[in-house]
Amino acid sequence: MSYSHKCEAQGCTKRVPSEMLMCRRHWFMVPKDLRGRVWAGYHRGMDDEYHVAVAAAVDAVQACEASKR
Ligand SMILES: [Zn+2]
Repeated sequence: MSYSHKCEAQGCTKRVPSEMLMCRRHWFMVPKDLRGRVWAGYHRGMDDEYHVAVAAAVDAVQACEASKR
């Protein structure tokens, strides 16, 4: 497994494998249906819909973090 990029969540510096978008902790803050959309887009070869889903996932994590403060 190659640890090639940083978790996509804002301010997170955890290294994650290239096939994962975020570290485990942040990934599970993303609503289930959105995670499904990210996976589907990833397997289609990271198309436009994938990037839309990723942006939405990053927002969802940010909202989740903000609500805890
Ligand atoms: Zn993270």
